[in-house]
Amino acid sequence: MSTAKLTIDLDALATNWRSLDAKTNCETAAVVKANGYGLDAGRAGKALANAGARNFFVAAAEEGVALRRAVGPGVGISVFSGHMEEDARLLRDFNLTPMLNSVDQMLRHFEALPGHAFGIQLDSGMNRLGMERGEWAAVAEIALGQGPVLIMSHLACADEPDHEMNARQLREFRELTDGIEVPRSLAATGGILLGADYHFDLCRPGIGLYGGAPYAEAMPVVSLDLPVIQVREVMPGETVGYSNTWTAARPSRIATVAAGYADGLIRAMGSGGIAAFAEGKACPIVGRVSMDLITIDITDLQAVPESLSLLNAAQTVDVLADAAGTIGYEILTSLGHRYARAYRG
Ligand SMILES: *Cc1c(COP(=O)(O)O)cnc(C)c1O
Repeated sequence: MSTAKLTIDLDALATNWRSLDAKTNCETAAVVKANGYGLDAGRAGKALANAGARNFFVAAAEEGVALRRAVGPGVGISVFSGHMEEDARLLRDFNLTPMLNSVDQMLRHFEALPGHAFGIQLDSGMNRLGMERGEWAAVAEIALGQGPVLIMSHLACADEPDHEMNARQLREFRELTDGIEVPRSLAATGGILLGADYHFDLCRPGIGLYGGAPYAEAMPVVSLDLPVIQVREVMPGETVGYSNTWTAARPSRIATVAAGYADGLIRAMGSGGIAAFAEGKACPIVGRVSMDLITIDITDLQAVPESLSLLNAAQTVDVLADAAGTIGYEILTSLGHRYARAYRG
């Protein structure tokens, strides 16, 4: 093995979908934007469809095209960015359902693709995407007359269960949609965990499927093994890596492994107290993370391993994210193109 190996457990992905689905009495869709949070939307989509997912969400029409090609005609694919200029052909040819975000998008859709399925995205307070209260009041009757398949909104603070924003957005969403006979959706992963009030007719988890916070019960989906390129002994007082940030305090054995910040292993995580694992032991990362290389103190191992594990059940994407001052979503979507990817399940 000369390149680092990223293993993606599609069985764990399917298990996470089923266990999130079991938390609600409504339909559970799956969000596979950004190429399935970096893990391959086509493979993820097929595994999730086999597990029972019937509806998928992507960010842009082009992502919907790639997903449609991978999963075939049998499932629904919705597009969060709605109906953008020039999207009509893709939406039509690949049977994609735009979530219309504005009056402009609505008019464009009705003119370009009359009769083509659509949903409505409402802004319940996040101020990112969707029609606001006044806009919705002005066009709701027209929109509802054309038979939207879904009305949705998105929560800004669902990963903080006690945040007052959650109840505020729930109230706003209800005021905008109560009494309307169209399926409704408010919850992503965090919203599912907030409880039944947030579930409505369809939930749209993303990160929880891929093993990330806030879904603490998630099974880890990714594991990452870094092959050892070289091993050296260093004496007390010797330094390792750029800028001499680590100095050996004892005679130490240092392994240099093949991956770095160009592979999404963010440089900042080097000083965050993370480890690489072999023989069931945590070996500290020492010195700076380089572009293609990381140095690890393996002094306490019995033998020189062929590789060390950086992502596993003990050290998840969220542990790396904390060490780097970011979130698991960013770690996943940054995982680079140089890994040998293996799909299990
Ligand atoms: C990304 C996204 C989701 C999925 O969110 P997770 O936190 O990953 O579960 C759902 N809905 C919208 C509108 C999104 O942008």
